[in-house]
Amino acid sequence: MQDPFGRHISYLRVSVTDRCDLRCVYCMAEDMTFLPRKEVLSIEELDRLCSAFIRMGVRKLRLTGGEPLVRREIMSLIRLLSRHLVSGDLDELTLTTNGTQLAKHAEALAAAGVKRVNVSLDTLRPEAFKAITRWGDLDKVLEGLAAARRAGLKVKINTVALKGVNDGDVDDIVAWCGDQGFDIAFIEVMPMGDIGGERRLEQYWPLSKLRADLEQRWTLTDTNFQTGGPARYVDCAETGQRIGFITPMTHNFCESCNRVRVTCTGQLFMCLGQEDSADLRAALRSSEGDEKLEAAIREAIARKPKGHDFILDRRASNVAVSRHMSVTGG
Ligand code: SAM
Ligand code: SF4
Repeated sequence: MQDPFGRHISYLRVSVTDRCDLRCVYCMAEDMTFLPRKEVLSIEELDRLCSAFIRMGVRKLRLTGGEPLVRREIMSLIRLLSRHLVSGDLDELTLTTNGTQLAKHAEALAAAGVKRVNVSLDTLRPEAFKAITRWGDLDKVLEGLAAARRAGLKVKINTVALKGVNDGDVDDIVAWCGDQGFDIAFIEVMPMGDIGGERRLEQYWPLSKLRADLEQRWTLTDTNFQTGGPARYVDCAETGQRIGFITPMTHNFCESCNRVRVTCTGQLFMCLGQEDSADLRAALRSSEGDEKLEAAIREAIARKPKGHDFILDRRASNVAVSRHMSVTGG
């Protein structure tokens, strides 16, 4: 699959549910209305959809959400998809999770061929964790991470940089990731979905500043390391781990974009930062064969835009894209 700008699409992110057991303040409003179940793709439909993308050239698949591990029968989907790892048609099956259910699932994930997980964690202070997630229990996530380590899963921590919230925590998180053997990527807060007020603008902390703060304490060296995602990585000499920076707001990484995203209702988004989408659920449900589905995918890839244009600006509203991050997944 090649888009009009010559970029090969080899990376698919699938949001398997819009639901979540947490309500991170930058991601969701407290009183979210979730989708009726009939609108959400079944496990069989998700398998058909992912398998079609894999046939068409996707080599890396990431399940996300909402919280993928709160989706009922998520392990059935992962076991189904693992056949593509066995056949060699898929290089990697991963997921992005908040970690609250990892203790329960880590071993089964590893057994199904999952090698790496991204776990989102913005602070190591229990009270601050509760405040950011509105009611989360940090201990559950730490137990999940311990289980992931025991199961042999490689962990990368994702930390959203929030000025005035976790800016005092980043050195501790970097040191702790070093102790645990985890890489870490910092993410700039993105203007997705209305979360009320202008809080994002107040919390926006450019990663160039965060990096300068880190360099007061740590020795960071640029690398060419790539995971297929948008992060730029540095080596941290003191911890021996990598630190990534995902900077949609200050640095446009669209030129090398190789990925598309599907929501749990089968809407295909060709760009995280644009509204254009294609309805793959209609194609899935209108026939038992996959010809219509494949045609709809091909037609949509031909419309993949050149890039996004996020701006965080007081003059405009603080929402560049109306859907929440939990709809398209991170
Ligand atoms: N629930 C899972 C989790 O938290 O990892 C997966 C879905 S979550 C939407 C994926 C990633 O998006 C998380 O790392 C989260 O911190 C990040 N995220 C959510 N809203 C964001 C926003 N407005 N700006 C930047 N990152 C955001
Ligand atoms: Fe849930 Fe992940 Fe969004 Fe937090 S970031 S509310 S854990 S989907």
